[in-house]
Parts: sequence; structure tokens; C-alpha cells
Amino acid sequence: MAKEENKSPLSKLGLNTPADLALHLPIRYEDETELLDINTAIFKQSQFSVQTQGQVIDSQITFRPRRQLIIKIADKEQELILRFINFYPSQQKQMAVGVFLRVRGEIRNGFNGPEMIHPTVKACQPDTPLPNQLTPVYSTVAGVSQTIIRKAIDKGLLDSRANAFLREIIPSTCFLKPQYAFLKNLPSLESAIRTLHQPLATEDKESLLDRTHLAWRRVQFEELLSQQISLQRAHFERRKRLAPVLNNPQNGYVQKLLDKLPFELTDAQKRVWQEIANDLHQDFPMNRLLQGDVGSGKTAVAALSAACALDNGYQVALMAPTEILAEQHFLKLLPWFEGMDISVGWLTGSLKVKEKREVQQQIMDGSLQLVIGTHALIQEGVHFAKLGLAIIDEQHRFGVLQRLQLYSKNGDQSIYAHQLMMTATPIPRTLAMTYYADLEVSVIDELPPGRSPIITRLIKNTRRLEVVEGIQRELIKGRQAYWVCPIIEESEALQLKTALETYEQLTAELPQYQVGLIHGKLPAAEKSRIMQAFKNCEIQMLVSTTVIEVGVDVPNATLMVIEHAERFGYAQIHQLRGRVGRGSEQSVCLLMYAEPLSMTAKERLQNLRESNDGFVIAERDLELRGPGELLGAKQSGDTMLRFVDLNRDAWLVEIARDFAHDLLQNHPVIAQEHVRRWLGSRADFLKS
Ligand code: ADP
Ligand code: MG
Repeated sequence: MAKEENKSPLSKLGLNTPADLALHLPIRYEDETELLDINTAIFKQSQFSVQTQGQVIDSQITFRPRRQLIIKIADKEQELILRFINFYPSQQKQMAVGVFLRVRGEIRNGFNGPEMIHPTVKACQPDTPLPNQLTPVYSTVAGVSQTIIRKAIDKGLLDSRANAFLREIIPSTCFLKPQYAFLKNLPSLESAIRTLHQPLATEDKESLLDRTHLAWRRVQFEELLSQQISLQRAHFERRKRLAPVLNNPQNGYVQKLLDKLPFELTDAQKRVWQEIANDLHQDFPMNRLLQGDVGSGKTAVAALSAACALDNGYQVALMAPTEILAEQHFLKLLPWFEGMDISVGWLTGSLKVKEKREVQQQIMDGSLQLVIGTHALIQEGVHFAKLGLAIIDEQHRFGVLQRLQLYSKNGDQSIYAHQLMMTATPIPRTLAMTYYADLEVSVIDELPPGRSPIITRLIKNTRRLEVVEGIQRELIKGRQAYWVCPIIEESEALQLKTALETYEQLTAELPQYQVGLIHGKLPAAEKSRIMQAFKNCEIQMLVSTTVIEVGVDVPNATLMVIEHAERFGYAQIHQLRGRVGRGSEQSVCLLMYAEPLSMTAKERLQNLRESNDGFVIAERDLELRGPGELLGAKQSGDTMLRFVDLNRDAWLVEIARDFAHDLLQNHPVIAQEHVRRWLGSRADFLKS
């Protein structure tokens, strides 16, 4: 029996239990409850599907402009053409002259009169009764038809195990507070799920479709509740774990570093450093996100945190998403820590095997105290003797799992390292309340003094010559410029080719200057040589693919050209733009675009021109693309909300958060049961 179930096509969709089936909710509905005569159907002029019926009066295969099947049906008053461009002989037979058909589709005016192209067709009798329910349409994969899914779900809903899954577990007394009045009016879970799978023709169709129907609200609330409970529990659990208590002695490394930094901390930097220092001093692991727009000076704060951990005899790992960025941190931190007798190391994928082993050995025996690197830091073979603090730069580039892995890297498994994550992409409020609810957040809301805001201009790609003149004007002043080549999603090779061409062209156009080219395919050593040359101003014009996207710091660069900016996302452009405006000189970002622009691309570029504010941009990004992009790597898909749309349902998140809090306090066992039934094994992901 179990074997039989395993083979079921439904398992391809991950539908293995009655509960899975119950929660496989329709993506939309079709309305087959209404039948119009052909005339009315034609004059309804709606762009939606209509249903009508008639008898086949003609059936022909024509060959102009290509092979197609043309069927004509008619009722008492009117005719309608059905056109099939790809068809099977069996279909032709099914629709033979004289057969009675019920058809559904959009009607348009064809060359020979009103027609439906590829309608849904059912043979029937004129008086075959209409269903009294809307027809659900489910997401599926090849080989699993709607009929199979519908049947399985109908059967699943009758299964007593599904009933057990759907039974009400939250006591009605929990809904008494006035702020939960909305919840009190929601249908029971069981009735909500049944309504969504088998909505009566009398239900409000629009709200079923846009998922604002009360039945949807019930499901969304349940889902949010389980998420909020797990997050609040994770928050609580973290406080029960042990982490090293890190002190900050007078005249210790922190003070030494402060003396050494070539600048005075901004007030914002001082404030967030204090917040972090307080966390590090507690005996449970810090889980803090340091948020600050590009160029706000997060690295200095990270260095202070590292100094504190090092001073207490613990190791520190600093992980960045790219080699270039990791190397920049390395080169920046090395002089800052000079003279403090700290061994600083470097671990990335491009190290030779022997070097890698050596570094791994030093990490394991504790002789290496500060290790800077890439993903290589969380790979097999890396075990820290005494990790006290892990710093993750551009955290959204890493997945939840990767962050979890860092926990398991410590020699003493009962001690958890403190975690400091950094990002230039602010988290919109709804995300902060959901996916990041167990994070403390520190914000650097002030740029170092003397920066002037970047001016952003939109310019059509046909005006390339003017752009090159603009570059010349900037280079003459002794400044430097970036030219970012377009993303070409279909082909990396093509992307490289474009970058090469741009490089050659600019080399010819700017003969008195040194033009450099950097791209992902270059060996790490070559990349770092070029970046160093750019930093030393031996290269004035740097052509690049998007490898410079994050964190690169060359204050003398004042001009950023982004070609085919319409192909980039909000956050991406904002990050790229942040590579300039790092010194006191006025900086400019030119967004070159090619016509025609789609509406969304146009809106995006205009917003970018108008705002330099990372926060505004992150909010827009969330609206446009949903949370996936902001949450980062693909793994986050596992923790995604299935039925909730954070833009649409933000207000419900707040209710669920308070409700989760109450439930955990008053009925912890029920809270746990609720999470188990909603998340099952996925609950772990939310603990990161
Ligand atoms: P991000 O927050 O984007 O990582 P960085 O840490 O790279 O920013 O800092 C950007 C630049 O500003 C660096 O050159 C850094 O040395 C400099 N900087 C950081 N803090 C200050 C400060 N308080 N005063 C002046 N310059 C600073
Ligand atoms: Mg940075």
C-alpha cells in the first residue's frame, strides 16, 4: 500500500499526506457555473472566458496559413468558430459533425467572424446540468492532470486524517481581545479549506481570486501564526544558549584600534558600536544585523567588534561573498591591526591546496586569530579552536543554511559564537517582522562627513559620445571612473564579449589614459592585481562586469556609468552606484538605457534618479519583486510564506505577531502543536 502511494504522480508535487493535499490550494478558479447562448456570449465582449454550447455543423482541416482544425458550432440563432492550431486526430473525431459541445474560452473577432482559439471542449447533451461550484485550478507538473489532482483532493478532504489535520486547536477564548475582532469573524480552518477547494457558485469570486476572501484570510493567518511562533521561540531559545562573555578592557585592542583609525567615528558608528559591545558582553549569542547604506562605514564597526573578541582570546571569522571583497577587507584590516600582535589570515577557494591546508591547520590549532575569507570559511575541513565572533558581510548573499553552518564550526560545540551580519540593503518593516524577527538591528543612519550626495542621470544609449566626453572631463581632473557592462542573462560568453568590446573601444577613445578590464572569469590573483592598480590610480578607467557590485572602496572614483541599466534590479544599481561618492568630491552615476523601456523599467530608473535613499529603494524592490531577492540565496525559498503576500497582508502580520506572543504565553503546548502541523520539518530553518 505504502509502495503504491510512493509511486503516485502526486508525490511529484510533494503531495504525500492528506494534509499536503488539503494545503495544496488552487492558484485560480474557472467559472463553469454560467452558460450563455452564443449570441450573448459574443456580445458580452469580455476579455474573460465565457462558456457556451452548440452543435457541430462543420469540421474542416485547412492549410492556410498553416495546418489547423476549424470547427463550426451553432445554436438556434448564431454560429461560432473554434480554431485549433495543434490538434490530435482524436480531437477531430471527438468534435465530429452532429456532436453537441460545451465550450469555454475567450471570444475574439476573427477574419471569418467570432471565434474561440483552443477552447476547452466537452461533449455533452444540451441539458447536461451545470456544476454548482467554481472549478479550482491547481499548480501542477507535467504528467499530473487537473483531474487527478482534483480527485485526490476531494478524496483527501474526506480522509479522516485530513480532518484531524484541520481540526480547530486554538481555544476560542484566545480571540477575546478587541484587537483580534477580525480573527473572530474568520471561518474555521476546516471550512476555509473546503471553501477554497470547492467554492460554491455563490461565493464572491473576486475575493477568491485576489486572495482576500475570508477563507483565504483564515489560511493566511494560520500560516503567519506558525511563522511568528517559531520566530519568537527561536528568539527565546537563543537566550538559553551559551556564548563567550566578551569584555572590553581599558587600553585594550578596541582602544588601540580607535587610536589607529585615520578618522573619528561618526555619532552613528559610535552608537551602533555601543549596541554591539553590549551584546558581546552577554552570555548568549548575539544575532545582530548591522545595516547602513553603502559607504556609511560598516567595516570600521566590524573591526571594533573583532578587536573586542580578539582581546578576550577568541578567534574571529570575517566572511564576504566574493574574493575581491574579502581581499579588500583583508587589506584594510591588516594595517589597522598592525602592531597589536594579532595573526591575521586569509582563506578563499582560490588558494593552493597546500596553502589551504596550512591555513586550516592554523585555524584548528588556534594560532590564527583573525581569518578573513569567502564561503571557504564554512566548507569542510574548517574547524575553529575557539571561535568567538563571526562577521558576515553582505549577509543577503548568503543563505540561511550557510549561516547555520558557521555555528557548527566551533571546536567547543556547547559554545555559540556571536554573529554580526552586515548589509547595505535595508530590511523593509514587513520583512523585519517576519523573516528577521529574531534579529536585533543596528542602523548607521549617517554618512561620514564631507560626502556630497551622488547625482544620478538617465541617458539614452544613443548618446554614448556625450558619455565618453563626460568621462574625459572627469579623468582630466585626476578622477577615476567605472563602466559597468550589461548583464546578459542568456549567455555568460556573450557578456564577456561585450565587456571586451567596450574595453577595446574605450581604450581607443581614451588614448591618454589607462583603461582596465575586470570580469568574473579572471584568475583571483589577476583580479586583485587590477583592483590594486585601480586603487593606486595606475588605472583610471575600469571596465567591469558586475563583479564590482559589492563593497569596493576607491574614494577617488567619481563617475559610474551603468550600461543597459534597465536590465538591473533596484538594489543592484543602488549597490553599484554606492561605489562612487566615497570621497568629498561630487560624484555622478549615469544610467544608460536602451529604448523601448517597459513601464516597470522606466519607473524603476526614475525612482533611482530621484532617490539616493537605500530604504526607499528596498521598499520599492520588495513591492516589485517580492521578498525572495532581499532575503537572498535560494535556500530562503524553504521558509517562504506560501499564501501570504507581504505587501498585501502586512497588517495581518502584526495581528499574528501579537497573537503568537499571547499564545506562547498562555498556551505554549498549543502553540507548539500549531507550528508542528504547519511547518513540520521546515521549522528548523526559521531558527537561523
Ligand atoms: P560600507 O558601509 O559600505 O562597508 P566602508 O566601511 O567601506 O563602507 O567605508 C567607506 C569609506 O568611508 C571607507 O573608505 C572608510 O575608511 C571611510 N570611513 C568609514 N568611517 C569613516 C568616518 N567616521 N569618517 C571618515 N571616513 C570614514
Ligand atoms: Mg562594506
